[in-house]
Amino acid sequence: MIKISNIKKSFNKSVVLKDISFHVTDGEVVAIIGPSGSGKSTLLRCINFLEKPDSGKIEIGDVTVDTTKTTKSEIQKLRMQTSMVFQHYNLFKNKTALENVTHSLRVTKKLNKKQADEIGRNLLDQVGLLSKADSYPISLSGGQQQRVGIARALAVGPNAILFDEPTSSLDPEWVGEVLRVISGIANKEKTMIIVTHEMKFAREVADKVIFMDDGLIVEQGTPEAVFDNPQNERTKKFLRNYQ
Ligand code: ADP
Ligand code: MG
Repeated sequence: MIKISNIKKSFNKSVVLKDISFHVTDGEVVAIIGPSGSGKSTLLRCINFLEKPDSGKIEIGDVTVDTTKTTKSEIQKLRMQTSMVFQHYNLFKNKTALENVTHSLRVTKKLNKKQADEIGRNLLDQVGLLSKADSYPISLSGGQQQRVGIARALAVGPNAILFDEPTSSLDPEWVGEVLRVISGIANKEKTMIIVTHEMKFAREVADKVIFMDDGLIVEQGTPEAVFDNPQNERTKKFLRNYQ
């Protein structure tokens, strides 16, 4: 369902992604772990062309993009396949929770207000925030804002959701509720790629764990294989810091 082949990306002269290939099957949850600066965010951003990869191939659903020769319409199609949940929520501050969730339904899917609101309320209900539909982000806790971010990501019915450290900027008291919402979605067989430092969560929710270091996938496998029996020295060293 997602097949990433030989993705490379440099910023100026610094090579940030060296030759990344992996795949995600339908309904699979993949956790990407690794030290800060290893290229995890850049990889996610390349998958939806928030960054343009220098080379490589991206296949999601029935969309295939050779990153060296892309057209605007191909990129648009590719972007429709996924949605992203960001570390810093990136909500529209001048829109209510409901308006944040329905925005893409109105703009991209051209639904009328009634149709969009119905879907939006349903999604807010799924993340436990129906009662906050008319609240603005400033009056919501970090955990609530991120749950709105997740409802928004679900709104367009993407093939896959990409999470970039969805709990890293939350106060500890809000981490649990956001992880519970993500687990709930994972249990519904949604395809997801999650960059996270929450190792316990990754172990519980992921079907596959990918360890990245210095622009490379160093090791990948089941959570049991990677966490309990890592093969590579760099993986072992990284995981020791989380024991
Ligand atoms: P991670 O998410 O694993 O912490 P990133 O993908 O954010 O890593 O960053 C990998 C490397 O790429 C870092 O050295 C970072 O400074 C660099 N980098 C990321 N984005 C840019 C950019 N837009 N311009 C220049 N360098 C960047
Ligand atoms: Mg990052």
